[in-house]
Amino acid sequence: MEASREFVYQKFTEYYQDPSTVIPVTSMPEQREFAYLMFKERFMVRHKRFAEFKNFRAMLAETVPSDVYHSCAYYENPEADMDKKGWMGSDLVFDIDADHIPTSCNKIHDEFKCMKCGFEGRGITLEECPCCGSTKFETKIWACDLCIQSAREEVAKLLDLLENDFGFSQSELRVFFSGHRGYHLHIENETVRSLDALARKEIVDYVIGLGIKTFDKKGKTSVKFRLHDFGWNRRLKMGIKSFLSNARQEDLIKAGFDTRKLELLTEKKDTLIERCLDEGYWAGVMGIGEGTWMRLAEYIREEKAAKIDTVVSTDIHRLIRMNGTLHGKTGLKKVEFPTKDLQTFDPFTGAVAFKKGTAKVLVSDAPEFIMRGETLGPYKNQTVELPIAAAVMLICKKRAQVAN
Ligand SMILES: [Zn+2]
Ligand SMILES: [Zn+2]
Repeated sequence: MEASREFVYQKFTEYYQDPSTVIPVTSMPEQREFAYLMFKERFMVRHKRFAEFKNFRAMLAETVPSDVYHSCAYYENPEADMDKKGWMGSDLVFDIDADHIPTSCNKIHDEFKCMKCGFEGRGITLEECPCCGSTKFETKIWACDLCIQSAREEVAKLLDLLENDFGFSQSELRVFFSGHRGYHLHIENETVRSLDALARKEIVDYVIGLGIKTFDKKGKTSVKFRLHDFGWNRRLKMGIKSFLSNARQEDLIKAGFDTRKLELLTEKKDTLIERCLDEGYWAGVMGIGEGTWMRLAEYIREEKAAKIDTVVSTDIHRLIRMNGTLHGKTGLKKVEFPTKDLQTFDPFTGAVAFKKGTAKVLVSDAPEFIMRGETLGPYKNQTVELPIAAAVMLICKKRAQVAN
């Protein structure tokens, strides 16, 4: 193994062998499948069962995997083949990752390269290469403050939907920093456990605002746009009100309105807001028809929908990163924090695993970043002495090597 990988492996080893390292016990471990990625050999060991948590800790200390997962599902026989495991239920999990949120920064700091033909691009990695059709890419991604802040906003929307529309209590909603550039939300309760993939799909559709009904038939001839006072209808109603109240010209253009509509919307703003809030029925405002309302509603829906990775929540056999373990792409750990601390929890402090010492590294390219409150970088082809956590992160992200 080359020196830089060896260095990271060494640090991971220290973390997993340190008795003071806290790895919180997963609920019902004896019924979950555990899996881990081998650090050196790069293959995934799956279908493991650890009836006793101390055996799991011993495995971590001995094997030192680069990434550790457990199933969201509960099985009669976690060690058996997939079709013989005996599915007993699954937690409901949500994954919010900057990978799925189009931010203005990912064009700046994210790159991908097709492993087959070498096609290169910036921004969110494509599903398939436009040149050769391959789906394998080498990626170089970064997590900046804007990435984290964008993901945080999506979590806030998700929490609002789950608490206010589904009625989950704060204590049932467990929020984690994922260890990279996103968040996980776990719900482990009796009610959700037995939901099948289809039921989970319905929850997902609701969360992303798919198929919201906004039209009511009123009388025989007229179909009017109407919003009720609950759930998505209320969210749209309040959203449109706030949007119209504060919209500047550029906001209306961004929402897709032409100059004529723009003037009309500005001119009749007060009437529209009144209709929207007091009467709930939106019709009879000259020049503002169904099309306009629908466009407004669609714009607000897009803004209020939580951008989750939909595949994760509907997969009833999903493996998810284990709380307290390290992320192989950052050296940060997955860590839980109280939902009320969403806005203040700083992953680059709270998820740091390596707190002592420094290391000398040759950095090829890194933007400015903050680690445990200390501003570092930007670096370009230079040798620097960095706190271990920063050195490990840059090496994991293939932006630095151990310097002699
Ligand atoms: Zn290609
Ligand atoms: Zn970013």
